[in-house]
Amino acid sequence: MAIAVYPGSFDPATYGHIDIIQRAGSLFDEIIVGVLNNSAKSPLFSVEERVNILKRVTEDVPNVQIKAFSGLAVNFARDCGAQVIVRGLRAVTDFEYELQMAQTNRVLAPDIDTMFLTTNLEYAYLSSTIVKEVNAFQGDISKFVPPFVAEVLQEKYKQR
Ligand code: ADP
Repeated sequence: MAIAVYPGSFDPATYGHIDIIQRAGSLFDEIIVGVLNNSAKSPLFSVEERVNILKRVTEDVPNVQIKAFSGLAVNFARDCGAQVIVRGLRAVTDFEYELQMAQTNRVLAPDIDTMFLTTNLEYAYLSSTIVKEVNAFQGDISKFVPPFVAEVLQEKYKQR
């Protein structure tokens, strides 16, 4: 059985992430999204909130699981019994860092491969950071994230 993990911060999930999850879901028997619990990054949403958001927006993907993890992605992949780490590539700007990470991971875990899915052009410009910035200035984020994510983002800013 081919299992892949898709690790990231997902703070919060965008249509770009969802597109990668759907496509990975049709390539692998199981796709496990790993939500990184990284205290150094001070995310807007807690890891529990990010996991819940992802669960909600991937309800229609039959073979997806959402899990929190901390530490190395290769260890998370091993714990999940995965052979592949999936990452999305938006533009050349992503490439250098992603290549370095993939090569490091290959040294750490030669039994696990990184597979890149190129972004759907429709979402190539999208990042969680941009979505948060537009939302902070009351811009329309409906083309970037599903309605549920827009709601929780707007709630978050009301609380601040
Ligand atoms: P990071 O893992 O660097 O903290 P993210 O959580 O935003 O960043 O992204 C997780 C993964 O999703 C990365 O592989 C990233 O390249 C990919 N990704 C981010 N935004 C998009 C997008 N708009 N389209 C496709 N893939 C994306």
